[in-house]
Amino acid sequence: MEHIIENLRKNGFDVKVFDTKEQAADYLAGSIHGKTVGMGGSMTLGALDVYDRLAADNTVYWHQVQPGEDVCLNACNAQVYLTSANAVSQEGFILNIDGRGNRLAGSVMKKERVIFVIGRNKLSGPFPEALDRARNVAAPLNARRLSKKTPCAVGADKCYDCASPERLCNALLVLWKRPWWCDSMEVVLIRQDLGY
Ligand code: SF4
Repeated sequence: MEHIIENLRKNGFDVKVFDTKEQAADYLAGSIHGKTVGMGGSMTLGALDVYDRLAADNTVYWHQVQPGEDVCLNACNAQVYLTSANAVSQEGFILNIDGRGNRLAGSVMKKERVIFVIGRNKLSGPFPEALDRARNVAAPLNARRLSKKTPCAVGADKCYDCASPERLCNALLVLWKRPWWCDSMEVVLIRQDLGY
């Protein structure tokens, strides 16, 4: 973990490490006030149970509790964007695969602040292993969770590179480094297994 943290920092990401998801949720709730906040689809953010706390003090857009396309668009345009990641490589690259693309769009071209909330189980080896994790571990488990009609959802065992209309994997974002236009990109790293 320490080597990846060092590389994330070299790549321009501000890393904060917490032992528990409760500590991470306290940090998020304590550091975001009076903002528009977008949240990407994420089991990790759900586990932190931070939506209500943020919504008490901010305008929060999260399609997991407010269904609708406009919610995703508003989330992408918010001042602060929270999401997780499918994998973080040994080199400190942050990977996400998306079906709609909202998490990817929300993670870039964001001037003010982007926060990736990541459990230790997302930390991977070199980039090919991180890509393999995103494609063959995270995506099939998400397909099963969402009851998608895809071959991977049956066994949640691997990616079949399907042509299903419900395919989850249409775009990949690899953040090698913090895009210079974004003033702050944080990684909130938690020493617990969270999400897929
Ligand atoms: S491309 Fe299709 S089979 Fe592969 S993980 Fe994505 S949804 Fe599943």
